[in-house]
Amino acid sequence: MDTLLLSQSFEPVEQVPWQRAMTLWMSGRVEVIEAYGDRQVRSPSFAYDMPSIVRYVRGRRPYRQMRVKFSKQSVHARDKGRCQYCSIDLRLSEATFDHVQPRSRGGKTSWENVVIACRKCNQRKGNRTPQEAHMRLTAVPKRPAKLPRPVDGPHWQYGMPEGWRLYLRA
Ligand SMILES: [Zn+2]
Repeated sequence: MDTLLLSQSFEPVEQVPWQRAMTLWMSGRVEVIEAYGDRQVRSPSFAYDMPSIVRYVRGRRPYRQMRVKFSKQSVHARDKGRCQYCSIDLRLSEATFDHVQPRSRGGKTSWENVVIACRKCNQRKGNRTPQEAHMRLTAVPKRPAKLPRPVDGPHWQYGMPEGWRLYLRA
């Protein structure tokens, strides 16, 4: 589970593992804004609700752009749930990862080289580049600047708890 870390002025700074958020909280550097009600952190001597959102309370931290975690879910959301070759709508479960530059030929698994595709297009493209397969990408894949909005399924599938939305809106 991750925790959303906010600056003093409530701007999103970073998505951190909850353990890191706990460490910051124990050292008094953050306050807990929201907790995961259904999850607790336990040890023999304490039990706390796992923090979902924390905010810096001391010192000014430089604002940094929040980096969106790379996952099938976030790529699916970035690509608006559409096959990037034929534009057909795909549920998350139907979508496949397509490496634009094939993995077998050094293509990386990255925002810039992965798109979602339907099975048909993925199979048709096979081990070729779009150019070789005479297929066109509908958009140039990039790292999204903001957390994309989920387009399919419940929000938690995207690793984004409901409470985070308030702070992540543009
Ligand atoms: Zn397709």
